[in-house]
Amino acid sequence: MNPSDNGYDNRGSPGRGWNIRLIGALIIVLLGFIMYMSNTQENPVTGAKQHVSLTPDQEIKLGLQAAPGMASQMGGEVSSSDPRYIEVKKMGNTILTRSKAQKGPWKFQFHLLNDEKTINAFALPGGQVFITAGLYEKLQTEAQLAGVLAHEMGHVIQRHSAQQMAKSQLGQMLIVATQVGTSDDRGNSAAMLASVVNQMMQLRYSRKDELEADQWGLILMTEAGYDPKAMIEVMDILEKSAGSGHGPEMLQTHPYPENRKAEIKDYLEKHPSKGNLNEGALLRGSKT
Ligand SMILES: [Zn+2]
Repeated sequence: MNPSDNGYDNRGSPGRGWNIRLIGALIIVLLGFIMYMSNTQENPVTGAKQHVSLTPDQEIKLGLQAAPGMASQMGGEVSSSDPRYIEVKKMGNTILTRSKAQKGPWKFQFHLLNDEKTINAFALPGGQVFITAGLYEKLQTEAQLAGVLAHEMGHVIQRHSAQQMAKSQLGQMLIVATQVGTSDDRGNSAAMLASVVNQMMQLRYSRKDELEADQWGLILMTEAGYDPKAMIEVMDILEKSAGSGHGPEMLQTHPYPENRKAEIKDYLEKHPSKGNLNEGALLRGSKT
C-alpha cells in the first residue's frame, strides 16, 4: 500500500490531460458515427436504405479504373474473339436483359481472365464482373455459369463494396479515437484491439454479404430462366476443387461451400422456383 495513493490525483496536469484526450476521443467517435449514419442512400434496385458514401457514378468510375489492374493480376483478359469469352459475355447480358438487374444505374461488363490455375470470380463496384478461366473450365452447364455471374451481379446490386468502404471509414475513425483516448503505454494494445475489431466487423459483414449475393444469384438466374439448383452444383464444384493442390481463392474470400449450400437449399425450399429453361452444356467453342 502506498500511503500517498489516497485516491486523489495530486500530480495535476496528467489527469486533466487524460480527460481532454478522452473527450477528444469521444468527439471523434461521435463524428464517425454521425458521418456513417448520415451517409444514407436508397438502393436503386431494392429501395432499401444503405450506409454508403459513394454515388453510383463514383462506383462505376472506380470499377472501370480498377478493372485493367485486376485483370492483369490474373493473366489479363482472354482475346475478345475467344469463344469462351463470347459465351461469358452473352450469358451476362442474357441475365441482365431478363432480370431486375437492369433496373439499377449499373454498367455491367463481363470479363474472362486468362488465369487457368486460379478458381475465382469477383466483382468490382459499379458492374465490372470477372471470372477466371480456371473456374470457367470447371463449370459444365450454362445454368452453372449463370449462377456464378448472377452471384457477382448480386454484389454489385447490393453495393457491398461501397458499404464496406463506409464501414472501414467508421472503423478508421474508431482506431484514431482509441489512439487519442488512451495513454502512451496502453495506447498501442488498445489501438491494436480496435483494429482487430474493425477487421472482424468487416469479415462478419462480408460473410453476410456473400450469403446475400448467393440469394441474389438465385433470384437473377431464375428470372433469366435458369434452374437455380445449378447453384448447388457450383458449390459442389468449389468443394471438390478445394481437395486438389492449390485451394481456390474463392474459399479464402467466401464462406465454406458446405455452409453456403445449406443456406441455398434452405432458400430454395422456401422459394420454389420455376426457372428451368435453357439448360444446356457450355459450348466453349467446341461446336462449330
Ligand atoms: Zn461473392
